[in-house]
Amino acid sequence: MVTTVFDPAQSPQKRRARRYPTSARRSPPPHPAVGAAAATAAVAGLVAVVVLAVATETTRELRLPGGVATFVGSLTGLVGMYLALVMVVLAARVPAFERILGQDGMLRWHRRLAPWPIGLIVLHALVVTLGYAQAARTGVLHEIGTLVDSYPDMLGATAGLLLLVMIAVASFGPVRRRLRRETWWVMHLYIYLALALSFAHVIALGPAFVGHPLTRVVWSVLWALTAGAVLVNRFLVPVVRSARYRLRVVEVLPEGPGVVSVVLSGRNLDRLAVSGGQFFAWRFLTRGLWWQAHPYSISALPRPPYVRLTVKQIGDHTAAVARLQPGTRVAFEGPYGAVTSHALRSPTVALVAGGIGITALRSLLEDLPKSTDPVVVMRAASEEELVLHEEVAELVRHRKGTLHTVVGSRSRSRMTPAALGRLVPDIARRDVFVCGPPGLVEDAVAAARRLGVPPSCIHYEIYSW
Ligand SMILES: Cc1cc2nc3c(=O)[nH]c(=O)nc-3n(C[C@H](O)[C@H](O)[C@H](O)COP(=O)(O)OP(=O)(O)OC[C@H]3O[C@@H](n4cnc5c(N)ncnc54)[C@H](O)[C@@H]3O)c2cc1C
Repeated sequence: MVTTVFDPAQSPQKRRARRYPTSARRSPPPHPAVGAAAATAAVAGLVAVVVLAVATETTRELRLPGGVATFVGSLTGLVGMYLALVMVVLAARVPAFERILGQDGMLRWHRRLAPWPIGLIVLHALVVTLGYAQAARTGVLHEIGTLVDSYPDMLGATAGLLLLVMIAVASFGPVRRRLRRETWWVMHLYIYLALALSFAHVIALGPAFVGHPLTRVVWSVLWALTAGAVLVNRFLVPVVRSARYRLRVVEVLPEGPGVVSVVLSGRNLDRLAVSGGQFFAWRFLTRGLWWQAHPYSISALPRPPYVRLTVKQIGDHTAAVARLQPGTRVAFEGPYGAVTSHALRSPTVALVAGGIGITALRSLLEDLPKSTDPVVVMRAASEEELVLHEEVAELVRHRKGTLHTVVGSRSRSRMTPAALGRLVPDIARRDVFVCGPPGLVEDAVAAARRLGVPPSCIHYEIYSW
C-alpha cells in the first residue's frame, strides 16, 4: 500500500515518509522578459506584413479595374494568415510562454485573437473574388469557378477556407457550449489542415511573394518553425517523456462522494520538474480512454516513485478514472500552469478553493515557503465534499496558518467581497490564489479586486474549458 505516502500527518521522523521524500525538482521560473520580447516581435511582425503588402502594390495596379478590391483582398489575406500563425504559436504550448501566461492566459489570448484571422481570411476570399471578377468583367459566381479551376493551389485553399468557416461556427459560444469537448477538440485539429491547405496558394499567388524569393523564404521558415514548435511540444516531448517516466496506476482510493485519488508510480520521477499547483493532460492507455487527454492537477507534490491526482466525477472521463485498474499505463503532457510559488509577489498568501479546485491548492500549499502565513478557504456544498480536508488542515497547521471552511449551496455562500473580507481581513496585503469551477473563481477574483488586491497578486486557474 502506498496510500500514506502523501499524508502530511506522517512526521518526517517516521520511516515511511523518510523513504519517499517530496521531489526536489521544480518547474523553472517564468521570465517575463521573454514574454515581452515575444509580444514585441509579434507586433513588429504585424507591422512588417502590412508594410510588405503596401510596398508590393503599385499605383498603376490600383487604378486598373478591380485593383482596389484585389489590393484590399491581398492585405486582409496576408494579415489574416499572419494572425493565424500567431494563434498557432499560442496553441503550441511553448514552455517559455506557458510559464508566463499559464493555460488560462494562453486560452484567453487565443480566444480574443481568434475572430480576427478567421474574419480577415473570409473577407480576403470575398474581396479578392470581387476584384478578379471586376478585372475580368464577369460575374462573381462565374469568377469563383474560374479561380478554383484555373489558379494554382486554389482547390486546396478553398477547402481550407470551408474548414475555417466550419471551425468558426463551432467555436461560437452558444454552439460550442452544445458540443462535447472531445468533438470540439477534434474539429479544432482541422485548423492545422486548413492552414496547411492554404499555405501553397499564398506563396503561389500572393503579390508579396510572387517574384520575391526573400519574402518567400522568410515566410516559409516562419511557418516551418511554428509547425515544428507544435510537433515538438504537443507530440514529441509528451511521447518521449511518457516513455521515459513509464507511469502506471498503482491504486485508486475513494476520497469523498464521487471523488477518487489515483496514485501513479514511475521511473526517474525525481528528475521530473514540476511545481505545486501545476497540472498535466493525462491519457490513460486503456480501451475507450487512450484517445482523450484530460487536465488534472497534481493533488500533492510528487514523492518519487509516486505522484497523485484527485478527480471528481462529473462526466464520462472522470467516471472512467474511478474505475481504472492497477497496472494501467499512463501517458501525459505537461506540466502546465502558472499558479505556482513562482507567482508570489507578497510575503503572505490566501488560497481560495472551490470544491475539487483544492487539488491544485493542496500541492501549491505544500510548495509554498513556510513563512507565507497561509489563510486557506475551502468551499464545498457539504462537509463530505471538503475533500483532502485533513491533509490541508495538517499542512496549514505545520505552517501556522488559518483554515476556513465554507459549506452550503453556492447561492447561499457566495464569495462576495464582504464574505471574503470577513474570512481574510488583511487580504489586500496578500497574494491570492484561486482555483475551482468558473463561478467560484469569477466571484473570488472579483471580490479580491474589490478588496484592494492588485491584479498582479491575483492568480487563478479555472477548471473548465
Ligand atoms: C487546468 C485544469 C485542471 C484541472 N484539474 C482537475 C483536478 O485536479 N481534478 C478534477 O476532478 N478535475 C480537474 N479539472 C477538470 C477536469 O478536467 C474535468 O472535470 C474533466 O475533464 C471532465 O471530463 P468528463 O468527460 O468527465 O466530463 P464532461 O462531461 O466531458 O465535461 C464536464 C465539464 O468538464 C469540463 N471539461 C470537460 N473536458 C475538459 C477538458 N479536457 N479540459 C477542461 N475542462 C473540461 C467542461 O467544463 C464540461 O462542461 C481540471 C481542469 C483544468 C482546466
